[in-house]
Amino acid sequence: MKIKYNPDKDIVRTVKEGLKRTGGYCPCVRERSEDTKCMCRQFREQIEDPDFEGFCHCMLYYKSKD
Ligand code: SF4
Repeated sequence: MKIKYNPDKDIVRTVKEGLKRTGGYCPCVRERSEDTKCMCRQFREQIEDPDFEGFCHCMLYYKSKD
């Protein structure tokens, strides 16, 4: 299992700017809680899920199974 940044640098830059603006909370959702702090709960669960492969919701990270 590997987690990498999106190879699209423009997306990475935009999402990182968003994270800076929110103080580390997911820029793609309104809720501000431990669940939405990057890496958010949704992506943490996707990391734990052996069947999941793909981008996190904001597309900052990509998880590959191997
Ligand atoms: S969707 Fe991605 S960028 Fe957004 S909080 Fe979750 S892990 Fe971070």
